[in-house]
Amino acid sequence: MTENDIKGILSLINEPFIGKDFTSLGFVKQISYNGKNLSVILEISDEDFAGADDLKARITSDIQKAFPELKEINISFKTGILNHDSRQKEFVMPGVKNTIAVASGKGGVGKSTVAVNLTMALAKLGLKVGLIDADIYGPSIPLMMDIHTSPGIAEDKGRKVLVPVEQYGIKLMSIGFLMKKDDAVVWRGPMASSALKQFMEDSLWGNLDVLLFDMPPGTGDIQLTLSQTVPLTGAVIVTTPQEIATADAKKGYTMFDKVNVPTLGVIENMSYYKSETGKIDYIFGQGGGKKMCEEIGVELLGEIPINSKIREQGDAGNPIVNSNPEEEESKTFLNIAKNLIISINKRNTSGKQSKGPEIIMEG
Ligand code: ADP
Repeated sequence: MTENDIKGILSLINEPFIGKDFTSLGFVKQISYNGKNLSVILEISDEDFAGADDLKARITSDIQKAFPELKEINISFKTGILNHDSRQKEFVMPGVKNTIAVASGKGGVGKSTVAVNLTMALAKLGLKVGLIDADIYGPSIPLMMDIHTSPGIAEDKGRKVLVPVEQYGIKLMSIGFLMKKDDAVVWRGPMASSALKQFMEDSLWGNLDVLLFDMPPGTGDIQLTLSQTVPLTGAVIVTTPQEIATADAKKGYTMFDKVNVPTLGVIENMSYYKSETGKIDYIFGQGGGKKMCEEIGVELLGEIPINSKIREQGDAGNPIVNSNPEEEESKTFLNIAKNLIISINKRNTSGKQSKGPEIIMEG
């Protein structure tokens, strides 16, 4: 029995979310065989989905049929994410597999709160993640992640580069590291765009599965700079259920669509308030996110309640997903992260990857 025999069997079995076989996806991570026992580690979009045990049993039985002499077969799953663009190495940040803009139509909907918790949730699922805080109007990531240091400086291939700050296992850069307090007004436009470019072109990101961008609200220069500098995997739009928020969120969707960046999903924040007695109050209206998704034909990745613990943990510099992983809200974020990974993997096999920025070959 050889590695290729096992790969051959796995080339007939589809990864359940993407609908392509494990072998051609490159999801066969490890095969070990000691003459009697075989163990195989496979990557998959959601390692503990409802049908995981059945699928493992099917793979085990297919291998057993082909090699009856095997005493023990052990199949395990591990969350895996596909590279957005096989030409990634031609772009800035060649080690970054996927870049995601976290956007909102208007401010105050909880975009930054969702961005940090979503980043932490992706890390909890075993991915290598980074976050760039590009929200010039309120760079809040340093506060929410309790960061009091500045990025370091290093030499890389004969030039000076920035070294992202690391906190809770996440690599981070923030426009807040460069701005003085109350600088937001002068930072609009070219200064902010050039800072963002520096974060992408002159920072040591190394290898990451996903790099998220906490975008300023609305549709402006920063959004354009981003879509022109990297081949974005896609955008995630955060909204509250309120019509005033979803109307603006749709404008965000349209803007990304115009520059050929697909929206990978919508996250509805502040969906409801659940009191201690279990009574649910739809403070900002009910179902606005779902309705918006139906209108634009995009998936709703999840709904997050309004909850003082989410705010308190943000203010305390330790996002709820990290500080209180057992809370229901943290599990909601984990589910959203799983849905996002599925959406990314589907997108990365759709054959519709971004063409990449036209200006990328300059310099
Ligand atoms: P944005 O980035 O959209 O401007 P923030 O993430 O800064 O929004 O959130 C605005 C305020 O709302 C912050 O004080 C934050 O702690 C709070 N907040 C965000 N989401 C929630 C939530 N689900 N429950 C409770 N408070 C929240």
